[in-house]
Amino acid sequence: MKRIVIKVGSHVLTEKGTVAKSRMMALVELIATLKANKYEVVLVSSGAVAAGFTLLPLDRSTIANRQALAAIGQPLLLSMYQENFAKFDLLCSQVLLYAEVFESQEHTQHAKDAIDKLLENNVLPIINENDTVSVQELVFGDNDRLSAHVAHYFDANLLVILSDIDAFYDKDPNQYDDAKRRAVVTYISKEELEAAHTPTNEFATGGIVTKLQSADFLMKHGREMFLASGFDLADVRSFLIDGEHRGGTLFTTSKT
Ligand code: ADP
Repeated sequence: MKRIVIKVGSHVLTEKGTVAKSRMMALVELIATLKANKYEVVLVSSGAVAAGFTLLPLDRSTIANRQALAAIGQPLLLSMYQENFAKFDLLCSQVLLYAEVFESQEHTQHAKDAIDKLLENNVLPIINENDTVSVQELVFGDNDRLSAHVAHYFDANLLVILSDIDAFYDKDPNQYDDAKRRAVVTYISKEELEAAHTPTNEFATGGIVTKLQSADFLMKHGREMFLASGFDLADVRSFLIDGEHRGGTLFTTSKT
């Protein structure tokens, strides 16, 4: 059975500050189909802050407030997932991690044991950063980095990032009309990876750099990443279910 990690960003899962229910439902339906197609699926989901905001509209400009909102919203987000997955007779579970877990072999093994056990019992692990004790992803990565670590250390072949952008382009498509989609990427340059450190660089707009860093990390460990739209799941569906690569970008080191 092929193990995959799916990461959904907060832009996809939220709309005007609240949880985008129809998009969540489409994601749940896709995961149910994947599980029926013999995939083992782990979900990394953002969206806790937006969910919290629907219950208590705190000012989101400070990190401490976002931490508080995440703490409020995480159980709501999970109960929404639970309700939706129940329609497909699927159980889901909550696993809260933080980057440092993967710095300890012992902690990584404990977490992997739990993930393996959940998957063995056909339960979907839904992972998020534990934002009240660690603010790394809340501040920088929107779970891009966390999901790459999850894929590698929990031994998934592929990380699927469902984004507000439908692929990786040769330049930012929101700024340039002539941007061209890169269907397959086998190498990411140092300049592209370090674009985050120079905020004036046009390349560094949006969250594409953390996605490239995640792709680079996985490729260096012999794993793959697929970046596709989270608004329209047709490309990810055809890639994973029909084996047809229509849209989206595959980051891979294999030549096939
Ligand atoms: P998400 O919310 O899914 O995590 P982000 O908004 O953080 O996604 O990052 C995706 C954004 O990165 C796109 O909307 C796009 O404007 C920007 N971007 C910058 N350069 C590129 C590029 N070369 N290819 C694709 N997107 C890019």
